[in-house]
Amino acid sequence: MLLVEGLHVYYGQIAALRDVSLRVDEGELVGVIGPNGAGKSTLLLAVAGGIRPTAGKITFNGHSVVGMAPDAIVKRGISLVPEGRRIFGTLTVAENLKVASSTRHGREEISRDVEHVLELFPILSTYLRKPAGELSGGEQQQLAIARALIAKPKLLLVDEPSLGLAPILVDRVFEVLEELHKQGMTILVVEQNAVRAHALTDRLYVLRTGRIELLDKDPRLIHAIESGELYFGRTDNGGPNP
Ligand code: ATP
Repeated sequence: MLLVEGLHVYYGQIAALRDVSLRVDEGELVGVIGPNGAGKSTLLLAVAGGIRPTAGKITFNGHSVVGMAPDAIVKRGISLVPEGRRIFGTLTVAENLKVASSTRHGREEISRDVEHVLELFPILSTYLRKPAGELSGGEQQQLAIARALIAKPKLLLVDEPSLGLAPILVDRVFEVLEELHKQGMTILVVEQNAVRAHALTDRLYVLRTGRIELLDKDPRLIHAIESGELYFGRTDNGGPNP
């Protein structure tokens, strides 16, 4: 479904991604782990059209999306849940969902989809009139995912869903991603939390200072995660920093 080949992204003179290639097949839940500043957010932004790569290909369902505007990419079926959630704190939960549906037509279909999303996140339906800024971090993350789902994506990009959340809230957010995956959603998630990401995903890539490696099903990866050697600052296993 998604094919990234030889991607290079520069911010001025700084190389954020160097020759990055990865693949996400339909129905897969794929993870990219890596430390702060490795280029994880840049990778997702490039796929979502927020940054233009210097070189390389990004193909979605056989069509190039490089150079397309972010809203056109959303219409093609790619939605991004950005790092830090970026919900509208002064708007209510219902209003946040309404803003998310503003690019769509067909009121009845939209309200059916909103209902479906609320079934997935029952906690949000109890807070529809609450300003989103008053929700807990975990609830805000659920709202951010709900908002992305309103666009009816075929591929969901999720940037550091565990960021700033207590472990119990991370559990809930990861359960939601697992549930979506079971329902057939294709997901690419980037995470610093290697242990959680490994448990959640079908395949895992490791990104370090702009370069990517597929360490999926490699016994070295399992060992590195379990021993705490592969620790990027926010795992639960208390391992040392590399
Ligand atoms: P984090 O977990 O901190 O978000 P990350 O793996 O998502 O890290 P990126 O945010 O993609 O990494 O950053 C990759 C590199 O690009 C870093 O060196 C960062 O400082 C740099 N960078 C990111 N955004 C910009 C920008 N707008 N201008 C200049 N450099 C940037």
